[in-house]
Amino acid sequence: MDVLDKAVSGERLSHAEITSLYELPLGEVAAAAHQVRLQKADKDVVTYLIDRNINYTNVCRIACNFCAFYRTDRQKDAYVLDYGQISEKIRVLEAVGGTRILMQGGVNPKLPFEYYTGLLQHIKQHHPGIRIEAFSPEEILGFEQFFGMSAEEVIDRLIEAGLDGLPGAGGEILEDEVRAAAAPARIRSEDWFRILDIAQRKGIYTISTMVIGFGESYAQRASHLIKIREQQDRAVERYGNGFAGFAMWSLQTEHTRLAGKAPGATAHEYLQTLAISRLALDNQRNIQTSWPGQGFKVAQAGLFYGANDMGSTMLEENVVSAAGGHDRHATTVRELVRIIHDAGFTPAQRDSYFRVLHYPDVNAVLNPQGLEVAPA
Ligand code: SF4
Repeated sequence: MDVLDKAVSGERLSHAEITSLYELPLGEVAAAAHQVRLQKADKDVVTYLIDRNINYTNVCRIACNFCAFYRTDRQKDAYVLDYGQISEKIRVLEAVGGTRILMQGGVNPKLPFEYYTGLLQHIKQHHPGIRIEAFSPEEILGFEQFFGMSAEEVIDRLIEAGLDGLPGAGGEILEDEVRAAAAPARIRSEDWFRILDIAQRKGIYTISTMVIGFGESYAQRASHLIKIREQQDRAVERYGNGFAGFAMWSLQTEHTRLAGKAPGATAHEYLQTLAISRLALDNQRNIQTSWPGQGFKVAQAGLFYGANDMGSTMLEENVVSAAGGHDRHATTVRELVRIIHDAGFTPAQRDSYFRVLHYPDVNAVLNPQGLEVAPA
């Protein structure tokens, strides 16, 4: 049996087999990935989430070489949002039927722990219908260091204040040689998994991520995928609570110290790695295609390379777009519905856990004037 047949029949691929997929014609890898996607998730449906990104501060002491978003606290455009400003942003999300905020910041040593707990309580009190998925493992590691608490204690106190989930941002490539070259002070892979494991043990939402284009080898990408797969096995077995999904995007380097030094990823390479991720992550149902990194057209193509989810509206993406996401910092429900419908799938609004909340009326969303839209 060749490696693609093996993956389609549900057998687990080894590190060498995952790496070898990069040598195969892309069309064949894509066809196998799409077949697996059709087996794992509803074959007719592609989901999307109505959410908003909120970056509560851009002050950060980590200073990743690939980041154009962060500032030192002495720079004129450094900011920390107050609770009222954050509430205003959430009201915009509520007005379009959104269900969650993805709230992350720089690792800001000047903010007291009470800023975070107070913020979570404020949001829960004033916006009870909104889920709060916030603070990457890098921020939790910073809280451990700033406030002299263990990650366990930090996460307990954040949950008590209203935290619903921990996004797995900062995964990039979970191989420390790659991480150290791209960002010497970046959280190491062991800590990234340690912190997400605690969140999973506590029963809250998590998601796994990957960013390609640092100049990492195919073998390093395969190692990353295997580590994610192993953590998923462990978390599901021990806690019944693994990663809700997997999201992969490509590095953007404009306005960063990696500009001209890291290769980023072409559309071919992005789609190839998306398809390989689907084949490698045999214990992951939900795989997102990414429009902020690759644009809407490549993201739409991703629906035939293993992805069953179009991501989310974001409304205010600041981090990828600062490094050359070409102003792709927000999208509308209409655009996501159009992309999904046009690719021949049924669009469905989902919650954070990829459960369908609602099937929008495609005609009404795409054509408020009332003309008929051709069936997909
Ligand atoms: S990527 Fe995150 S941790 Fe790194 S410098 Fe930017 S804000 Fe800080």
